[in-house]
Amino acid sequence: MNTDKSIKLFEEAKKYIPGGVNSPVRAFKSVGGTPLFIKQGAGSKIFDVDGNEFIDYIGSWGPHMFGHNPQFIKDALLNAIQNGTSFGLPTELEVDMAKLITELIPSIEMVRMVNSGTEATMSAVRAARGFTGREKIIKFEGCYHGHGDFFLIKAGSGALTFGVPTSPGVTKGNAADTLIADFNHIDSVKKLVAANKNEIAAVIIEAVVGNMGTVSSSDSFIKELRQICDEEKIVLIFDEVMTGFRLAQGGAQEILKIKPDLSTFGKIIGGGLPVGAYGGRKEIMEMISPAGPVYQAGTLSGNPLAMSAGFAALNYIKNHPEVYSQLEEKSAYLEAGMKDNLKSIGKNFQINRVGSMLTLFFTEEKVDDYNSAVKSDTKLYAKYFHEMLKRGIYLAPAQYEAFFVSTAHTKDDLDKTIQANLESLKML
Ligand SMILES: *Cc1c(COP(=O)(O)O)cnc(C)c1O
Repeated sequence: MNTDKSIKLFEEAKKYIPGGVNSPVRAFKSVGGTPLFIKQGAGSKIFDVDGNEFIDYIGSWGPHMFGHNPQFIKDALLNAIQNGTSFGLPTELEVDMAKLITELIPSIEMVRMVNSGTEATMSAVRAARGFTGREKIIKFEGCYHGHGDFFLIKAGSGALTFGVPTSPGVTKGNAADTLIADFNHIDSVKKLVAANKNEIAAVIIEAVVGNMGTVSSSDSFIKELRQICDEEKIVLIFDEVMTGFRLAQGGAQEILKIKPDLSTFGKIIGGGLPVGAYGGRKEIMEMISPAGPVYQAGTLSGNPLAMSAGFAALNYIKNHPEVYSQLEEKSAYLEAGMKDNLKSIGKNFQINRVGSMLTLFFTEEKVDDYNSAVKSDTKLYAKYFHEMLKRGIYLAPAQYEAFFVSTAHTKDDLDKTIQANLESLKML
């Protein structure tokens, strides 16, 4: 595979952009090698600047549920741009969008649009804090909620109740307000709640996690979590930035049958443009400025181009509920093929799949929490990643990610992927 142009561009990029990329995972740090610079996407495929073609399972990290550049989103954008790119003033499309979101997701009574998933989670936590008058939050180790200061915290060694920053620049003050629990272990939540009585504003969770690889909440865990939040008057926030509109029209909360108080969205909700949203119970959302005292704003929030792409995506979902059975069928086919391959080479590497989110963990033990996920052999994943890439299959350049099937992936794409998977596994 010739990657001369990408290599040159990366050298150039590193002079002007920290690490040569605008978001760290793109730099291939955890798998090694040089990131490929992408020129075009169409359906299930992406094409790099050297003319290489790949079947893509990143899908811009989630937004491209219908594949790259679908005609109906392109049409919506071309139509919207005729009227201008931004006004910073109310538009009809924002009303349509908010109405549609509340229609598609029963727990959302009111919604505020923002520009990224990070903004959505930061704002949802602020709303919860404003609503409860409390300051602390609980998050789960291994769940990712964007790069807000108070999310970049991991469990401290020793002291149960204090987290530590995972990044320089995050203050001890932030760390002190973020308590870290163990995903799928309700006792860890109970202990934190008991030790911080009436101090916890919110619990935030990826109810189906994508960011430690794909791991679902167990039924009992998520039910008990809901119950604890009810009893303690803690705002339960589902971070559905990845799972929203992907796992089902109603996201993870639909398939787990749990109603959170607030939810956050991103990725699919923008149809490929930079969009996030947070919403939920009316009495909490009415705390948000200018309806209430909790300040939150955005010059480009509800931007007409972003709203037109997002609305087109969500409206397509509303009118084509069959997309979820299509995604399920394709993803199950892929999973089955990969499982056959693993059997044929005598390895029991774990595959977790929820709908169109799938992770092949390079560990032979069941993965159902953070500690079991991190038993994966990330060096082996790195090798596997490059073997797949050589065979024209673009996977996430890191073990602890989900990969995404889109409605644009054809049976031929999936068969090629399964064949490449077999050949790559044999090379390890
Ligand atoms: C991607 C993601 C975010 C962050 O969204 P950005 O748009 O990258 O800021 C937050 N939470 C989850 C679950 C995500 O997958």
